[in-house]
Amino acid sequence: GEPGSYTRGGRIMVYVRMRPLSKSEKDAGARSCVRVVNKQDVYLAEFASETDYLRLKRLKGRHFVFDAAFPDATGQQEVYNTSTADLVEGVLQGRNGSVFCYGATGAGKTHTMLGSTHNPGVMVLAFKDLFAKLRQHSREGDYVVRLSYLEVYNESVRDLLSPGRPLILREDSKQGTVAAGLTHYQAYSADEVMALLHQGNQNRTTEPTRVNETSSRSHAILQVAVEYKVHHESHYVCRTGKLSLIDLAGSERALATDQRTIRSLEGANINRSLLALSSCINALVEGKRHIPFRNSKLTQLLKDSLGGACQTSMIANISPSNLSFGETQNTLHWADRAKQI
Ligand code: ADP
Ligand code: MG
Repeated sequence: GEPGSYTRGGRIMVYVRMRPLSKSEKDAGARSCVRVVNKQDVYLAEFASETDYLRLKRLKGRHFVFDAAFPDATGQQEVYNTSTADLVEGVLQGRNGSVFCYGATGAGKTHTMLGSTHNPGVMVLAFKDLFAKLRQHSREGDYVVRLSYLEVYNESVRDLLSPGRPLILREDSKQGTVAAGLTHYQAYSADEVMALLHQGNQNRTTEPTRVNETSSRSHAILQVAVEYKVHHESHYVCRTGKLSLIDLAGSERALATDQRTIRSLEGANINRSLLALSSCINALVEGKRHIPFRNSKLTQLLKDSLGGACQTSMIANISPSNLSFGETQNTLHWADRAKQI
């Protein structure tokens, strides 16, 4: 593999992807307040007030440096190659990996993860790459690819491939945390998987109060398990690797109330799983021995895919618009924290 895949260790790789200014933002008079410099550096310009902003009098700004920063013209394939290709390679070697998209609603998480039929995102590109690599190596052994696609909404777990009642999480001595009754679909090609994922995405919970706003509080988790039986001289060696691709709930509500205690946040019905993910990341940053995975469904499900021997990539999605300045600033601060793991 690439030399990089051995140097990353247990560290989280953190990337920022800025989407283009949308038509509705332009119509609302929005200007860009974010600039990506030198492929790694995100510059966030700050203005004293709307008036200063209109005069384009820049007060101050701040630079944030990440493992990579993608400007608005960056295509899906480049985002995949930088953030996820190494992890797919790792899965074939029997390792676990996970890729998260984090950011406010509308910042580009689902575009990055799922994308569209004509412009597929990380989830679909990972399957394409995986099947291509498996075909190249098919003389060496046999493989099985299985996928599951679920959502965590309001601390209940639902199967996106076969919607029904919420699933119960159980501890399994061999497999770790499993969702009882979850569909494990055996996949044969990337095209077939794409149709399945778009169908699954339609099954994500829609906010009752915002009918046109899909899934801003639901986390979607795609898990791909590869079982690979390799001929090795006269016997077989069996390897299993798992890749988790996670389209997180919108971070805006969790971030708006930074100073409050966890308890009052729960009272305010803030997304528990997103807070728990932040707590786990903080504990990992601080090198704590106890990582509070048990505090939410999301972190329970990802216990074997965060920290330790796992490869993790975090893609922070941001809008360039000055109208989203606060959300962008919060997202960049969060990503900056994750970088320290
Ligand atoms: P989120 O899932 O974070 O709420 P979406 O992925 O749904 O946000 O993106 C919001 C809108 O912006 C969608 O219409 C999407 O197609 C568009 N968009 C997001 N990222 C990009 C990008 N990199 N290039 C072009 N359009 C984008
Ligand atoms: Mg989305």
